[in-house]
Amino acid sequence: MIPKYIFVTGGVASSLGKGIISASLAKLLQARGYLVTIQKLDPYINVDPGTLNPYEHGECYVTEDGAETDLDLGHYERFLGTPTSQANNVTTGRIYQSVINKERRGDYLGKTVQVIPHITDEIKRRIKLLGSRKKYDFVITEIGGTVGDIESLPYIEAVRQLKWEMGDQNVLIIHLTLVPYLKSSGELKTKPTQHSVKMLLENGVQPNILVLRTSYELNEELRKKVALFCNVDSDSVVQSIDVGTIYEVPIMMQKEKLDVTVLKKLGMDYSGTADLGPWNKFLKRLQNPKRHSRIALVGKYVELPDAYISINESFKHAGAMNNCRVDVQYIHSEDINESNYIALLKEYAGILVAPGFGDRGIEGKILAAKYARENNVPFFGICLGMQCAVVEFARNVLGLEKAHSTEMSLKTPDPVIDLMENQKGVTEKGGTMRLGAYPCIIKAGTRTSEAYGTLEVTERHRHRYEFNNKYLNDFEKAGMISAGINPETSLVEIMEISSHKWFIGVQFHPEYNSTVLRPHPLFISFVRSTIS
Ligand code: GLN
Repeated sequence: MIPKYIFVTGGVASSLGKGIISASLAKLLQARGYLVTIQKLDPYINVDPGTLNPYEHGECYVTEDGAETDLDLGHYERFLGTPTSQANNVTTGRIYQSVINKERRGDYLGKTVQVIPHITDEIKRRIKLLGSRKKYDFVITEIGGTVGDIESLPYIEAVRQLKWEMGDQNVLIIHLTLVPYLKSSGELKTKPTQHSVKMLLENGVQPNILVLRTSYELNEELRKKVALFCNVDSDSVVQSIDVGTIYEVPIMMQKEKLDVTVLKKLGMDYSGTADLGPWNKFLKRLQNPKRHSRIALVGKYVELPDAYISINESFKHAGAMNNCRVDVQYIHSEDINESNYIALLKEYAGILVAPGFGDRGIEGKILAAKYARENNVPFFGICLGMQCAVVEFARNVLGLEKAHSTEMSLKTPDPVIDLMENQKGVTEKGGTMRLGAYPCIIKAGTRTSEAYGTLEVTERHRHRYEFNNKYLNDFEKAGMISAGINPETSLVEIMEISSHKWFIGVQFHPEYNSTVLRPHPLFISFVRSTIS
């Protein structure tokens, strides 16, 4: 069976929410019983976003198979509850890399290698490759960037070719644009949408459905006008009005019958409705919290909320589960010092120290762990956050004053966090960390086991440094125990202080595993500890 291919392009402006529209449509199709996957094509030259600063591109999301990917894949997983993989995110860099490798191998011997057909063929191959992985009914492919960008051109051309090759019944194009509101004249404007569709048409692509992002309701007349000028059916102009939470978008798209229109256009059965029962239940809890909790997120990329997007979303999932609104306040770790840390942190019911790299702001993170430990305030350390808690414990409880991670101090006499042997010879930065899902065995009778309710889990990693097992005995004797171990390598994956109200540090990233319908047990338990 060949899947149906749906492409989602964007026009007028970036950040209109193509990822959320793609994920919402996928959700609606999934709720009708279809097998759906979503792919993101990113038009930049980096082979993957792993080497990008979070300020540039937001969080780097890690898949089970260890791919460092675009943060939209996080939305796909959170909405669908099914794992994505390397094949779900392809960048221009990766496309060129494989074409150039083929050229060097001699695969194109005698031929001039060109954008068309070689790059476009490789793009098409990557799109179809995902479709051949499983028996998908639909592959939704989100094209990053905005129509009109030079970088996007080969992708749009690949879409044009696929539509031509596979036909209208198998390929559908959704174009997302913005309808701005002009305050002075009190009008919603459709011209940018018309121009953006013209731009697509210049590239030979006629969109089938237009999704219009707007702050105000679009009336029938406006929809008709857009349909007429942009050459689409009148039921194919869909409004996407601003909402309070991204989790409302599937409901909104259902009201707008986006799924029905898509199925109709692809010649499929569109009777019945998508059952969004469990989703609605989550939404109700999210929007009607009975309690409230303030949690400090200590990190160094706090200016850009997208840098910690999976953690934020995990708090929403876990908060709803606890009927609690989690108010996450960002604190810049560089702003925390010896003289202000108590005053800064004392208003919070819980503290999370975020993942990160490099030594900027590291002492602030260590102080945050110290504050939480000494004052019995719930503490959750994620990756670098766990490492900071370990360093703090070594310094202030074990008396190893100069203890550190060798990432920050190569000369420390007590490298409680250190590079694994097999990382020592690594010189390339891209894709060389401990990446992806690894098993972890939880120690029975710990806080962690209580939270998980199981003793065997798999969690995703993205780091180079590890707890140094040479020190484990000393830590355990003093009350910080290893609550989770990698069964194959004996690496410590979880540290906890069992006598504390809630003090858990994890070497992995639980936030990548939290979904709307399956919030992460550690987040649920952490939030609960902040309200009890
Ligand atoms: N910088 C640390 C390491 O590489 C932690 C990484 C992280 O927080 N993801 O081990």
